[in-house]
Amino acid sequence: MAEQTIHDVVMIGAGPAALTAAIYTTREEIETVLYEKAIVGGLAATTDWIDNYPGYAQGVAGLQLADELREQAERFGAKIEFGTVEKIERSGGTIKLLVDGGEVLARSVLIATGSDHRKLGVPGEEEYFAKGVHYCATCDGAFYKEKRLIVVGGGNSGVQEALFLTRFATHIDLLVRSELRASEVLLRKLEEAKDKITVHTNVLVDEIVAENDIVVGAKIRNKHTDEQSMVHADGVFIFIGLIPNTWFLADSDIALDDQGFIKANTDLETSMPGVFVAGDVREGATMQIAAAVGDGATAALKMRQYLESKE
Ligand SMILES: Cc1cc2nc3c(=O)[nH]c(=O)nc-3n(C[C@H](O)[C@H](O)[C@H](O)COP(=O)(O)OP(=O)(O)OC[C@H]3O[C@@H](n4cnc5c(N)ncnc54)[C@H](O)[C@@H]3O)c2cc1C
Repeated sequence: MAEQTIHDVVMIGAGPAALTAAIYTTREEIETVLYEKAIVGGLAATTDWIDNYPGYAQGVAGLQLADELREQAERFGAKIEFGTVEKIERSGGTIKLLVDGGEVLARSVLIATGSDHRKLGVPGEEEYFAKGVHYCATCDGAFYKEKRLIVVGGGNSGVQEALFLTRFATHIDLLVRSELRASEVLLRKLEEAKDKITVHTNVLVDEIVAENDIVVGAKIRNKHTDEQSMVHADGVFIFIGLIPNTWFLADSDIALDDQGFIKANTDLETSMPGVFVAGDVREGATMQIAAAVGDGATAALKMRQYLESKE
């Protein structure tokens, strides 16, 4: 029987952190495979416009940046496969991964799985996902031309995406659990858009309401008075934060913090030898593309040192 391949480096995820790490490893001729469960480019690819990534003086579309990172990594030989990593364990000098039910072996691994959108957890949310309930304005906003929308979330993402959605929607109700927490720049833009965006503070969403299987709005409740009311809309976009993509590490020896982010030392190595972490999924990450890219470069250089030490 043919012996199973042991990859030099396997990366989990193909967002900005992993793609950058792959540029570094493959340029030094370290064989590298990336497994991606959804979109190459990660959250950056689903972001409409990025204004603060260095080197793009006029800003850059998220999808363009993702494509360029991919092209650069593939130029040096990075191999990108689609698949979900479901488990990771160390067995002797090798790291075993379960990818879509199949075993993949590696000498070293980079976890760069980023984070996912936090859910409200109310009736109707799961049922009408992608049929009236959305988490990506860039992906789904254009379906709501000349329609009314609800946006949930009063942080930077909620306000930024509500502003973006004014390109399509006739009106937006922005539902905020307590007070607005967005940056001064965004709050100024929100004020300028007040004809199109109505802000409701101190409200909780109780239910996404549909009639004949079509979303018609949300039942909301005032946090202080408990008074319920209905906000009518054709779609609901939810931006209430992110949770780290670490569910597949539940039974592993990789240490997580109490919020589920991966702990690492200054070499970005986790508590499992040979397994490194980069980007938004790392404890203490600043949730920015430039930071994820920096992590990716650091992790790749430290992985090279690790592999050399094992030769
Ligand atoms: C709405 C929005 C706007 C933003 N705007 C900006 C901005 O203007 N500027 C900025 O700097 N940052 C912005 N960010 C943040 C930025 O997108 C992230 O910081 C960056 O994408 C993090 O990169 P990453 O590689 O760590 O993770 P991600 O980009 O999240 O990539 C992780 C990848 O791993 C994959 N994955 C997860 N689990 C598995 C698994 N088990 N198996 C296989 N694959 C898996 C995911 O599908 C994903 O593609 C924004 C984020 C959002 C949500």
